Amino acid sequence: MSLERVRQLPLDLPAGSAARGYISPELDVPLELPFTVVRGGQPGPRLLVTAGIHGAEYASIEAAVRLAQTSPQALSGTLLVLPIVNLPAYRTRSIYLNPIDGKNLNRCFPGEAGGSFAEQLAFWLVENAIKGSDAYIDLHGGDLNEALTPFTIFIQGDQRSRALAEVFGLPLLVSSSPSGTSITAGYRSGIPSILAEAGGNGLWPEADVGVLEHGVRQVMQHLGMLAGKPEPKPTRQLGEFAWLRSEHDGLWYPKVAAGQQVQPGQDIGHIATPFGKVLQPVTAPIAGIVLFAVTSLAINVGDPLYGIGA
Ligand SMILES: [Zn+2]
Repeated sequence: MSLERVRQLPLDLPAGSAARGYISPELDVPLELPFTVVRGGQPGPRLLVTAGIHGAEYASIEAAVRLAQTSPQALSGTLLVLPIVNLPAYRTRSIYLNPIDGKNLNRCFPGEAGGSFAEQLAFWLVENAIKGSDAYIDLHGGDLNEALTPFTIFIQGDQRSRALAEVFGLPLLVSSSPSGTSITAGYRSGIPSILAEAGGNGLWPEADVGVLEHGVRQVMQHLGMLAGKPEPKPTRQLGEFAWLRSEHDGLWYPKVAAGQQVQPGQDIGHIATPFGKVLQPVTAPIAGIVLFAVTSLAINVGDPLYGIGA
């Protein structure tokens, strides 16, 4: 199959065909983002799958790469996959931020046409890929410096997003409307949207890649895009999502791991100077499960330490 170089996503393909290649969005900084459009032989909804909004969350990127291999013959509707949205961050293995404007792309939605690089890229994604879709799945995971237990965030109070999260089948669900994120932009565009997370620490083991790929396929079955019935596993819903952050530059000594249950007031780590003086004892603010845990010894003021779901 030949690869295309396009300036507009070819969403109006003939039925039963696929297009793969590189899209150059009209941004101040030139980019060539890999894309795949698969148009099924039968009519159906359009699903958008993105990954690499954080460029070093590899299990999610690899899951999107595999999903892009979906055959048009097996599909009803249209599957649009953008597996490495934040290409500059991917290339530089940058955590959280992209190297061009130093911003976290997943805090820049819905973006701005005349904004900085990340704001322009967010705006482009909303206008060209999110709008017009019938459902949106944004794949993430723990960053290079984070361990994570798989969970799915759905938009708080939105039953359609919740239904997608349940059918995706990760064991933990978080109800939230995180501001500046891809899925909040999706929801505000009228599209049921979920953010599914698995993997971390720069690793992409088969289990984490597989769980994300399987989850998207279950959603596609739920939407009538693939044959078969989804078989979601039991899920546990968490409400509050507490983020703990570092108040100092220093060394980080975590005491609990992703997936572990914690109690309010529990000693879960500390930040120290290179000479062993404790700068910040860290205790769990709520009872809950550790969804992600920063594992790097290096820590900077303002960095996340843990995400705890109550
Ligand atoms: Zn992420």
